[in-house]
Amino acid sequence: MRGTMSKTTRCDILVIGGGAAGLGAAAALAPEVDLVLIEAEEAFGHHASGRSAALYEPGYGHAAITAMSRRSRPFFEEIGALSPRGLMLVIPKGEEEAHAAELAAPGMREISVAEAQALVPRLRGAAVGRCGLIEDAFDIDTDLMLQNFARTIRRHGGRIVLRAPAQALRRTGANWQVETPRGRFEAPIVVNAAGAWADRIARLAGLGPLGLRPMRRSVARIALPEGIDARRWPMLLGAGESWYAKPDAGALLVSPAEEDPTEPHDAWADDMRLAEGIARFQEMVALEVRRLIASWGGLRTFAPDRAPVIGFDPRAEGFFWLAGQGGSGMMSAPGQGILAREMILGAPPFIGADLAAAIAPDRLVQGGQAVN
Ligand SMILES: Cc1cc2nc3c(=O)[nH]c(=O)nc-3n(C[C@H](O)[C@H](O)[C@H](O)COP(=O)(O)OP(=O)(O)OC[C@H]3O[C@@H](n4cnc5c(N)ncnc54)[C@H](O)[C@@H]3O)c2cc1C
Repeated sequence: MRGTMSKTTRCDILVIGGGAAGLGAAAALAPEVDLVLIEAEEAFGHHASGRSAALYEPGYGHAAITAMSRRSRPFFEEIGALSPRGLMLVIPKGEEEAHAAELAAPGMREISVAEAQALVPRLRGAAVGRCGLIEDAFDIDTDLMLQNFARTIRRHGGRIVLRAPAQALRRTGANWQVETPRGRFEAPIVVNAAGAWADRIARLAGLGPLGLRPMRRSVARIALPEGIDARRWPMLLGAGESWYAKPDAGALLVSPAEEDPTEPHDAWADDMRLAEGIARFQEMVALEVRRLIASWGGLRTFAPDRAPVIGFDPRAEGFFWLAGQGGSGMMSAPGQGILAREMILGAPPFIGADLAAAIAPDRLVQGGQAVN
């Protein structure tokens, strides 16, 4: 339509990024404010949020993440997004000492190799040294979560604008002004929920980056041999997070669990890494891998201290960070949304002042400059 390009849309809050973080925050804020979410791609959840292993394990990650994951649970239960899975740690024989500390992970209890084999009959008893089990771990229906966020946003009059990459971002008077191919947007507060691109958004805004580092992780979906029903297997985690395998819709996801630093991009799987990961998996589990149904890569984005980055930037008014969720951004998304709403609207953060300080962008900025 003629004139659309120059149209300016004004709102209270502009969220940049339509992954779990941006959608979760927008869903939490939409009942209270006039809000627009812009997403670069044709669909939301195209990047990290569409490529995760979809595990909810509330003891996993930084203390602020575990607080947000726990806070997410009532939401997941209310919409029926969790189904029981469990998580089994598998330590190879000969490496028991080196990985003993992993058995003390929150919620984990040691089980005998025989008990582990009762759960996963294909486990190679002769190769496995020790095992641990976390029962409080669930599959998340992540599509259901994202769709629910989107519905909530729209029901409260919020707008989701797809194919709208932020291309320029500047502060003019009391507002941030964002240029996209689908028009200009103006709001006093902008939420940077751009995942792997969060530092790029800061640069667009004229701020130094905070040192957020996207790390690629590859995943393969493999076909199970005839007669193997893995639906009730727990997720298997190799000691030292050196591989994992998770039943998924009648097949098995296997990941080398690598953390290879990269630039933000539309990631794909590294075949060599996949082959290495599948080999490590097969050392512990007697399963022939005949057919790869699909493979993909995704970016897990970390700050240098691996704590998330949530809060207002001390260098620029109205610039709110919601990034650096690493490998926990799905399980914590509803809680992140609640926290973002509290921080943006000036309520006390439910995680408490100490954890709020531990995740504040201030810690990565010194004297107005980013430190990294
Ligand atoms: C292999 C893998 C396994 C994982 N497993 C789990 C798991 O089991 N459990 C768990 O909780 N987490 C898991 N994670 C982590 C989780 O997926 C991420 O933490 C989460 O998806 C991050 O969400 P996000 O919204 O920040 O990022 P994204 O989903 O990447 O969203 C960011 C969005 O910003 C958009 N964007 C970027 N630049 C612009 C711009 N200029 N303008 C507009 N939009 C822009 C992008 O297009 C993108 O859609 C896993 C991740 C990977 C890769």
